[in-house]
Amino acid sequence: CGVFGVVGVTDASNFVALGLHALQHRGQEAGGIVTHDPETGFNQQRRMGLVRDNFTSASMMKRLPGSIGIGHVRYSTAGSKGQTAMRDVQPFFGEFSMGGAAIAHNGNITNALSLRRELIERGSIFQSSSDSECIIHLMARSMGRTIPDRMEEALRKVEGAFSIVAMTRTKLIGCRDPLGVRPLVLGKIGDGWALASETCALDIIGAEFVREIKPGEMVVITDKGVSSHYPFRPARSRFCIFEHVYFSRPDSIQGGRSVYETRENIGRELAKEAPVDADLVCPVPDSGTPAAIGYSLQSGIPYAMGIIRNQYMGRTFIEPTESIRNMGVRLKLNVNRALIKGKRVILVDDSVVRGTTSRKIKEMILDAGAAEVHFRIASPPTAWPCFYGVDTPQREKLLAATMSEEEMRSHLGVDSLKFISLDGLYRAVGEAGGRDPKAPAYCDACFSGEYPVAPSDMIEQGFEA
Ligand code: 5GP
Ligand code: SF4
Ligand code: MG
Repeated sequence: CGVFGVVGVTDASNFVALGLHALQHRGQEAGGIVTHDPETGFNQQRRMGLVRDNFTSASMMKRLPGSIGIGHVRYSTAGSKGQTAMRDVQPFFGEFSMGGAAIAHNGNITNALSLRRELIERGSIFQSSSDSECIIHLMARSMGRTIPDRMEEALRKVEGAFSIVAMTRTKLIGCRDPLGVRPLVLGKIGDGWALASETCALDIIGAEFVREIKPGEMVVITDKGVSSHYPFRPARSRFCIFEHVYFSRPDSIQGGRSVYETRENIGRELAKEAPVDADLVCPVPDSGTPAAIGYSLQSGIPYAMGIIRNQYMGRTFIEPTESIRNMGVRLKLNVNRALIKGKRVILVDDSVVRGTTSRKIKEMILDAGAAEVHFRIASPPTAWPCFYGVDTPQREKLLAATMSEEEMRSHLGVDSLKFISLDGLYRAVGEAGGRDPKAPAYCDACFSGEYPVAPSDMIEQGFEA
């Protein structure tokens, strides 16, 4: 998901809509905005579908007056799937004795089921199936005197990954979980401030990137400025390494690094680790593009657009049902036949999850008369599900969970298949010595199976890490 918030600007909703539009790659199922204006009080609008289809009209913006606002774009990783239920669309809103608060959450709470059970036993009435709603109920039960106090108390009971943007009538609040699994950045715009999942959302509104919110940090922002709090026991940061590989937009800065440059580095590493003689390096657009450029630069094999992407299709992976996902590949990608015919082609993609994309693409490219197809993947084999906010499927559906690399190669029907090593990936994100097995600098659970936060709810349901 993507989260965004702004305070201290005229017509906050315009900024929120723009910010969410820049974060649309993080979630395309639904979106919502909450603002506050002294005359109208809190205003909340939530819709299924894209930001540009819902939050651009003057009439919609008129319903969202105020100089403070937050928003959320949803990609379902917990709660209702397939068809996102309207009631699961964020931001969520709650009324407390000291006033209202709205909250938007990116990540996944790993003890949400047990929290929900407890809260329901004690009388909470849940409105949604979303893990994020626990936070509102925990806040409601807190004895804290201010909303930020209540949020601190609530979040101390929550486990897992969370980057949160919340608001009261006058305060914009941001918080990252102690490991900082999901991103959150702070920006300055005129006399106001903005919080966003990624810096690309600051760029779109012309805000200046100030800094990242630190893992375990909570910021409370008013017109008077930003105050920092550290509600949790300090921990070593474990930012999601897959944000660098796939999730973030390439023009964003994450962890002080350009996501684009990191991806290009991954491509260079791949070319060193897994060279092959061929005529062309082609990306699987768009997610494989920067890594393909890196592979080409390192290997000296020409880069070419062997697959053309229909710009009017979103991210296929994020379509929740299998049949749409299968169709999606053809609706989205097509082979540039004239270029491919008779060529030995290196195809670079960011990841193989179920193998749907790679299988379809291989078929299309052989159909077009390619002489050889070599897959190079910009992440290690995805062998474990993510429980921290990326919707990887159950373990059985992950190709790499049940097959060796050679079995995957023959299942996909390609001439060769190589993944970047975990050490190579760490080098590409700037860890010169590779991955420190005793204290890895990132979360890499989907590749290593080492979960930095025990996925308690899943373990309760029989998952074995
Ligand atoms: P597959 O087709 O193997 O199931 O999925 C891999 C494709 O999905 C890649 O092209 C990748 O760009 C895309 N993808 C989109 N979202 C995700 C995600 O959340 N996780 C992973 N690993 N891949 C994703
Ligand atoms: Fe990111 Fe993978 Fe960790 Fe999930 S399991 S947070 S996708 S590195
Ligand atoms: Mg892709």
